[in-house]
Amino acid sequence: MPDHFETLAIHAGQPADPQTGAVMTPIYQTSTYAQPRVGEHKGYEYSRTGNPTRTALQDCLAALEGAAHGLAFGSGLAATDTIIRTLSPGDEVLVGGDVYGGTFRLFDKEYRRYGLEFRYMDATDPAAVDAALSAKTRMVWLETPTNPYLRLADLAAIAELLKQRPNAPLLVVDNTFASPYLQQPLKLGADIVLHSATKYLGGHSDSVLGLIALNDQALAQRLAFLQNAAGAVPGPMDCFLILRGLKTLHLRMDRHAANAQAVAAFLADHPKVSQLYYPFHSSHPQQALARRQMRNGGGMVSFEIAGGEAAARKVVERTRIFTLAESLGGVESLIEVPAAMTHLSTAGSPLEVSPSLVRLSVGVEYVDDLIADLEQALS
Ligand SMILES: *Cc1c(COP(=O)(O)O)cnc(C)c1O
Repeated sequence: MPDHFETLAIHAGQPADPQTGAVMTPIYQTSTYAQPRVGEHKGYEYSRTGNPTRTALQDCLAALEGAAHGLAFGSGLAATDTIIRTLSPGDEVLVGGDVYGGTFRLFDKEYRRYGLEFRYMDATDPAAVDAALSAKTRMVWLETPTNPYLRLADLAAIAELLKQRPNAPLLVVDNTFASPYLQQPLKLGADIVLHSATKYLGGHSDSVLGLIALNDQALAQRLAFLQNAAGAVPGPMDCFLILRGLKTLHLRMDRHAANAQAVAAFLADHPKVSQLYYPFHSSHPQQALARRQMRNGGGMVSFEIAGGEAAARKVVERTRIFTLAESLGGVESLIEVPAAMTHLSTAGSPLEVSPSLVRLSVGVEYVDDLIADLEQALS
């Protein structure tokens, strides 16, 4: 099959069903599989271990990330949890600044109890990442662009410096905000890519699911062992929904980005907006890196409001098309105050978010309607 993204998104891992010819991957809603003889089967024994709908999704995501292996989990955090389980007490993870609030919560409130160490640093400067590494660092955990400040990490530069370290820490990239359509971290030298497929990959805010893609065979086996042994697997219906979402990922991401670019331009000129965060806007300090590393600026826009916390809360309660809600990446536009919602768990930590920051997940509605909605909410 040609390896163009758009073609892979629609076909990879999804040949017509050999039994019936069904063009869409069937939802194999089964927990178990008949065996003609003891120990003899068609590759599936029990659906925690493997399910054909899940296999199709895993293979499709792997193709989109340019990976040899894909693994699906019940949520993005279940995928995160499974990756962390490969570590041992005493190991250290260097974590890029403003990671997803739930990732911070899992690391800080749960895994520190198991003797793992997490250090947080600003990953916008590769030299700072280099300086922060220690002999105990087993993993560097990054999001780019970050949530909610949309800061970037130079993946190629960081992957390169990690490979020169004697203990070669693994580079794990949470690619949720960009999606594989905008950037493919493995091709830039990362070791593991992680997704909350709940967001852009699914794209319709109707399911929760996590995905991992990687090339290393031994590590893939270890993660597949944990997928089965710990059992945080998704159901076949959710795998089907994410597969369906993947088919339009490229179309949606182009429109998300076009709309977000226009919304960012509107906000940049608005007197009540004191600071804009959008990777492809001229005000972004890493715009050059963004344009080198990403196909477009994506659909996330954050901004600081001049009137402080009260003004931020007022704006998010006044929009009519932008829905006040957590999450992101769906076709519909969402608005929120991260400090009080998605990033509440970071309060009092070094990852704390400004209370007057507003985050938008710009959807694929008619762009002038979105801008008019923000205009009335800000006035
Ligand atoms: C939502 C999100 C997660 C967690 O994924 P779930 O599917 O909600 O468990 C992880 N990372 C990022 C960047 C996210 O936005």
